[in-house]
Amino acid sequence: MNLCELKPSPDEVLDWLRQGNRRFRNGRNQAPHCDLQRVELACGCDQAEHALATVLSCSDSRVPVEILFDTGIMDLFVVRVAGNSIGEAQAASLEYGLVHVATPLLVVLGHTHCGAVTSALRHEKGLMPDDPALRPLLNPLQPAVQRALANSPGAGEEEQIIRAVEENVWQALDDFLAWSPAAGRLVEKGQVKAVGAVYELESGRVRWLDQKEAGSQGDGASQTD
Ligand SMILES: [Zn+2]
Repeated sequence: MNLCELKPSPDEVLDWLRQGNRRFRNGRNQAPHCDLQRVELACGCDQAEHALATVLSCSDSRVPVEILFDTGIMDLFVVRVAGNSIGEAQAASLEYGLVHVATPLLVVLGHTHCGAVTSALRHEKGLMPDDPALRPLLNPLQPAVQRALANSPGAGEEEQIIRAVEENVWQALDDFLAWSPAAGRLVEKGQVKAVGAVYELESGRVRWLDQKEAGSQGDGASQTD
């Protein structure tokens, strides 16, 4: 049997994450699937029978993905890298989450006050010395930063960073779908939904971005939650 047929629809998974984030930001976490029973279950089964969403997020310690969605063991297939950008390893991991772990939903999750995005922005503006060690992290962020700067002439740095974080969500999604035809086919068939979101450090809220922008560059619109 196709594992996707055993799982909730992409929209149902999205709603499950929305509800989990609502509990989190209201201080009502249920911490599901965090007990020894779940540990034993996870050891003895295939994660593909259970995990519901693949998430690309930043490594930032202030963005604990499972906690902010009030989920637990074997719920999320999470890929984390500073700046939530796409390199080969990240793309291959995301494809694994969609194709082999059969999660119906892909979330690219940026966050406010992202240090990697801020560094890329300052680097682009010539305010930061070049550090070869950081190039692999900052280079994938430059197209998003350049668009944010072009679209916000005269804006202060705080607004530029917010725009760059959103642009970077769409950049990562575009880069991933360009890398992975297999994921693109799943999205086209409707088996997988790909969405962008920004986690707000200020409130604990996950702000879902307008999905029409997937596959094209965003305009910063958001869905109300
Ligand atoms: Zn970050």
